[in-house]
Parts: sequence; structure tokens; C-alpha cells
Amino acid sequence: MPFKRPAPLEASSSNLSSPSDSHLEDIEGPSKRSKISLPTKVLPDIKLYVIQAKLSSPRIAELFTLAEKHCQKLCNDIDEADVVVTAISMRRRLERHMSWEVATTKAVVTPEWTLPCDCEETDYGSTQSPVAYPSSSASAASGSPRQRKASHGKIPPLDLSAEIRVEVPSHLLPPRDPVPTNLERLTYTSRYACQRASPLLCPNQELALELDIIRRSRALEGEERSALSYARAISTVKAYPHRIKSVSQVQRLPHLGAKISGLVEEFLDKGQISEARDIMTSERFKTLTDFSSVYGIGPHTARRLFDLGLRTFDDLEVYYGVDPAEVDTELMELEHEENHPGWKGRKAAQQQDDFDESWIKIALGLRADLSKKIPRDEVDEISKVVMHELEIIEPGCVSTIVGGYRRGKPESNDADIVFTHSDGPKVKGLCKRLVRQLHKQGMVSHVMHLSSFHGHNPLRTTHWDSLEKALTVFTLPKSSSLYTGTRRRLDLIFADPNVYWCAVVGWSGSIMFQRDLRQWANDKCGIKFDSSGITRRYDSKPFYPGTEKEVFDLLGLEWVDPTWRNTDV
Ligand code: ATP
Ligand code: MG
Ligand code: MN
Repeated sequence: MPFKRPAPLEASSSNLSSPSDSHLEDIEGPSKRSKISLPTKVLPDIKLYVIQAKLSSPRIAELFTLAEKHCQKLCNDIDEADVVVTAISMRRRLERHMSWEVATTKAVVTPEWTLPCDCEETDYGSTQSPVAYPSSSASAASGSPRQRKASHGKIPPLDLSAEIRVEVPSHLLPPRDPVPTNLERLTYTSRYACQRASPLLCPNQELALELDIIRRSRALEGEERSALSYARAISTVKAYPHRIKSVSQVQRLPHLGAKISGLVEEFLDKGQISEARDIMTSERFKTLTDFSSVYGIGPHTARRLFDLGLRTFDDLEVYYGVDPAEVDTELMELEHEENHPGWKGRKAAQQQDDFDESWIKIALGLRADLSKKIPRDEVDEISKVVMHELEIIEPGCVSTIVGGYRRGKPESNDADIVFTHSDGPKVKGLCKRLVRQLHKQGMVSHVMHLSSFHGHNPLRTTHWDSLEKALTVFTLPKSSSLYTGTRRRLDLIFADPNVYWCAVVGWSGSIMFQRDLRQWANDKCGIKFDSSGITRRYDSKPFYPGTEKEVFDLLGLEWVDPTWRNTDV
């Protein structure tokens, strides 16, 4: 990058950003302090290179002026520099300006590394002098930029034992002011659920619940297409903002064809739908519903068990030979999905069916706990406890609680948390490390699924994403004020910082909202979207939205807050 001295103070900052920085990546630097100075007493004769990207023009001018004033040598060539000052916090972006190999021979520091004028002494390991790429146990082997420099001894050795505050870039944190949903720009007549506002409870909730009985029955019977038609109709009803008084009100709405309009009419007449009532009283529906509520039993297995004459959970326990004493002691092997004894491939898991019988046996033993709903304060507590353990093994991670909790559900069936770290490479393998740590602390007792990262594949057609994730059984520690000993389902999802917001959107649900987001992206934008990334179809170019709203912006969609994404009952 050419060494360009900006005109002091009045130049606009826009002409300083690197041409390769797209509008999405142009994230404001971490500090706007106006008063800065360079350390003069302890670093005589150092050669300084300032990477201008992400620094405002006045800030660059100020850095240059102070460097000159204190006889610091500013150099044109990054290779010659002892110290590289940069506001870039991601390795991938830094590598646009210098190779990582070169970076590991320099002290790479953030502008905050510069000190107040009146400071006599400096401690480069202190939290007051952030280093852009702090060393950690993970990077120690290869040598982080800062650590390598210390061993060269050109600048005072760093106190590597000192606590390092890992700066979390602001774009990975939730926005300080939540983005309001402009309900007037969302339209309940859209064919796509992602363009409609769907509250947790809608004015026609009873109708949606009645239709959902038929949907569930179709799904349990393996009639997927029919189940999907009902799911679509339900999502339309969920977004309709008025109480339905006559069928003519809704007849022209999307996904409400003649058949379902007839059912709506019947509901308006009688306050119920006879087919739904019949289903509710059928022994088959009740049994299939019970059986498929056991983790690992999908509709196909449930029907097979029913056909064998099994009807109750007791029947299942006998059939699978459940010994309640065994359940408490068993821990699933933490292996990659391919090697997992209970893992029969992605397709099987996608259908939540066909699991190895040993899983079903364990899930049956855990059924009493896992069928209990989790209140919101307990989800908060689980997240807090997990973050505490994660901080121990990898400082500086950020997370968002997703799933039904984020959509405002008062109670959830499980807790879902998405994690990342601003230093992308640190995310790799972290899911497994966290699961091990939680297991060591006695919190994770079972791992139903543990998958490693695979590159985002734009040709992939299945719903499952390629993020690192662990589907686990978790118990709060006894030290927690909310400890009851109840085991809970906990899903942990790890995403690279570039796709963090895609993962947050994807895992926030609900199902039909996600389905239509993918459909919209495909139909209208020629883009493949899922929780592991956004890729343009024709050239596989990936996009890296810097906030959750940017995911919507990229897809040309109006922002919909998670609490308006309740497209399912
Ligand atoms: P609850 O947990 O209370 O039943 P929920 O909406 O949180 O409700 P989950 O099954 O936890 O339901 O799923 C949360 C969201 O994560 C879903 O809406 C779905 O979009 C997404 N999701 C779940 N499993 C996967 C997966 N394997 N791959 C990608 N996305 C998934
Ligand atoms: Mg959930
Ligand atoms: Mn989940």
C-alpha cells in the first residue's frame, strides 16, 4: 500500500479506506479518542508503519504529526517497520496489507497502543496498551506478531503473563439500540414469510393451532408435501393482523387454497375443524406424537413401533431395554460425526429419524427431564455459565442466544447459542474444546451430535448447515442459583466471524421464516443463503454481512426483528 500522507484534519475519511474494503467491511475503528501520542521514552528509534484502512483522516494526521514530533521514523515500506499500527482487528483483513508471515515478525498494535502524553512509564502487557493480535496459548506455537517481536528484543520484552484484554470488535456485539421493525413496510400479502410480520401470538391463534394439528398429523404419517402446505397456510394466518370474521377476508391471501379456505370457513362457523378434532381423539396420532417426542425417534420409526403394537412409553422402555440407572452414567463419545457410533449420516439426521437404537435408549431415560420446558431466566443462566467456561479456554468470544428464546417465547424446548471470536482461526475446533470443558465440569452429560466445520458449499441442497455444532444434554452446576438438577437440551453452534450474523439469523428461526429466506435469496437475488453463509450463485462469491441487519440489506429485504419471525404456531 502506498504511503500517503493525508492533509491534516480537514480531509474526508472516505478516500482513505482501502479499495478492497467494501461498504460491508468498512467498520468503524475501535476508538475515537482525539488525544493521542506515541510512546517516546521507551521506544527510541523505532520505525513505524501506519495502515491507513479504518483510520479517519484526522487520526492518521495526528499519528503522523506526533511521530515526527517525537522523532519516530515513519517508513514507507511495511517490511522495514518495527511497529505496525492498525485498527484492523481481523487477521483476514490484515492480510490484505501484509502477509501473516511478515506480521509475525512485527509488533502489530492498535492505535490505542499509543499513550497519553504525560505517561512516564509504559507496560506493554497491561490492558491499557492493546495489541492488535495478542498472543494466546493457541497462537503461541506459530508465534503471534507481538510475541515474535518480543523475542527479537528490538522493543522492550513483553510481559506475556500479564492479563490481556481481548478486544471484541463492536460489530460482533448486538447493536446498542435495537433496530426497529417498520411494520408498515412489511406486508401480510407477500408469498414469502420473511416479508411478513409474524408475532408470537396472533389475532387468529386458535385457528392456527387447529390447522397445526392437521399439519402434525400429516408429518407423522410421512405426508411431507401436505404437511408443508399446512405449514405455509399457518404462516399466512400468523401474519394476518386482523381477527378473521369471514372467509372472504382471507381467500385471496397466499397459500390459502380452496381446501384450506374450506377449513377456515368451518372454523369460523363451528369454532373448530372436525378433521382436527378426529385426529386429536385418535390413538394413532396420540401414540405417534408421544413416540416422536423422544429424541432420535422420527415419524418413520414411530410408525414402525406403532405397527409393532407398542402404545406407551412403558412399552418403549421394555422394547429398548431401558435401565434408568445406566442413563446417568453414560457419556457419548466426542467423535466427529463420521466416526460417531450413533451417527448414520446427514440425511438420516435431517429427518431426525433412523438413529442408532442406543441413542433412543438414552433419550428415553432422559425423557422426563427433556420434555419439560425451559423458562427464559434459565436459558439466560445456561448462557452465562457456558460463556464463563468458554472464557476460560478461549478469552474474547461473543455469543447470541438464538432459537425460540430470541423470538420471545416464554418457554423453550432447548437452549440454542451461537458463538464466534473476532480472530477467525480461533473458532476452529473450539466447539469440541468447549464440550470437553463443560463435560469436565460435570455440566454436559451427553452429546447427541458433534460436527466439525466443512467449507460452505454453494451446491449443497440439504437444510443442514456446515457450522461446527454440538447438540448436547446440559445440567446447570450446583453453584447456580437456578440449579434444580433438571437436564436440558443445549445446542452450541460456532461460526467464523465472517458468517456470524448469518448463523444468528439462521438459528433464530422460526422454520418457515428460514425456509422462505432461503427461497427468497434463491428466487430474487440469485444467492444461496443459510446459517453458514451467503454465496452468489453464478460465481460463488461469498458475502460477509457485518451486522444482522446487513443480512437483510444484502437480500434486499426489510428488517424483521426476531420477535416478528414467529411464522410457526
Ligand atoms: P424450541 O427449541 O423451543 O422448540 P426453536 O425455534 O428454538 O424452538 P430449534 O429446534 O431449537 O427450535 O431450532 C432453532 C432454529 O435453528 C430453527 O428455527 C432452525 O431454523 C434452526 N436450526 C435447527 N437445527 C438446525 C440445523 N441442523 N441446521 C441449521 N439450522 C438449524
Ligand atoms: Mg430451540
Ligand atoms: Mn435447538
